[in-house]
Amino acid sequence: MLLDPTTLIFINVANLLVMGGALPIIMGQGLSTAAARGRRSLILNAGAWICLLVSTVWSGVLPDLLLSTLAMALICASQWLLYRALENWLGRRPLRRPLLVLAWLMPIGYALSFPSYEIRVGWANLMLAAQMLIVARACLYPMNRDFGRVSWRYPLFGCLVVMAGFTSARGILGAWFTELYPYFRAPTPVNLAALVAANMALVLGTLTILGAWREEAEQQLHRLAITDPLTGLLNRNGWAAQTERALRRAQRHGQPLSLLLLDLDHFKQVNDVHGHEVGDEVLRRFARMLQQCLRTGDVCARVGGEEVCVLLYNADAAAARAFDERVRAGLAQQTTARSLPVGFSAGHTLCRSDETTLEPAMARADAALYRAKGAGRGRLVSDSHAS
Ligand code: GH3
Ligand code: MG
Ligand code: MG
Repeated sequence: MLLDPTTLIFINVANLLVMGGALPIIMGQGLSTAAARGRRSLILNAGAWICLLVSTVWSGVLPDLLLSTLAMALICASQWLLYRALENWLGRRPLRRPLLVLAWLMPIGYALSFPSYEIRVGWANLMLAAQMLIVARACLYPMNRDFGRVSWRYPLFGCLVVMAGFTSARGILGAWFTELYPYFRAPTPVNLAALVAANMALVLGTLTILGAWREEAEQQLHRLAITDPLTGLLNRNGWAAQTERALRRAQRHGQPLSLLLLDLDHFKQVNDVHGHEVGDEVLRRFARMLQQCLRTGDVCARVGGEEVCVLLYNADAAAARAFDERVRAGLAQQTTARSLPVGFSAGHTLCRSDETTLEPAMARADAALYRAKGAGRGRLVSDSHAS
């Protein structure tokens, strides 16, 4: 089998063109910033390879200088966009500033050292390899518990590390062992292997971007499935999933868990007098106030029209009362601003350590809420377990 660098480069460019052209169609409009950046990174990579190919067949120093410098700039921009996509997906990544400095310095140094093959090849490849290693590191560290569980990060890491290896080999050979890498299309073993690897990395890299995009879509669907669209609170599905975990954790650590059931008072009248839209706005404000009064670990969900369940983590009856008062005080302040009274009744109970589900506690909180309504509304009633 005879491997020919020009053919390999041509196939690489052809593949990149197809990928670059097909990805916008396959991924469609309305992408998240992360997915759009990942896609743009691949397209810029395609542009860089086209510039490189054209620069090698177009005779003349100036076109070569311009096209290959542009190629270097596009490759650096492609690495930067990939890194930014990873930041969007996984949260802030380390070494952002060094990467940006390398991405700027690489094409500038390349253009300035253009007359010397050894210096420009050494410079460009080693600077690019360093960028690839920073992006590779960004794939894995720091871990993100919410995103990147699907293993697209590992193949992407692998692609970047392998390409960084070949790229630095090219740089070292070009700068110090020039006879082993005398020009871009030289049919040397390292160059041939690097070109084959580039092709494989392109295919795998594209798949990983699609993998990340799919995980993003799945998460979005999951979020929708557990969120109440009007208030942004959890819905019943979300409540079931999150409270189960909180109950187990509280029981393991022997911590008190308070359950409150809140119901807006005379809410039907709000709708009747002010209209349904004002009613919706009242519900949203109520939800915002609850969220402001919660601590991390607490769970809050809209379980009925104007009924909200709250699970307070590590909270005894006194803590639940304090929470109830904070919400009432917050709403009272808001109400004076908008002159629309929003009162609520609340039923409270403590989850017992021998209860494996929240069902019994829900029933107790519901009964306590019923008593709060019967006693004149606008108050918190704790059931006997909680006192
Ligand atoms: P109580 O003090 O006994 O709780 O009286 P209430 O009027 O609040 O209770 P009732 O159960 O009679 O009425 C609940 C009202 O909540 C009726 C319904 O139209 C309204 N509601 C339920 N969901 C929504 C919603 O999403 N938006 C609006 N605007 N109103 C809603
Ligand atoms: Mg109700
Ligand atoms: Mg009500």
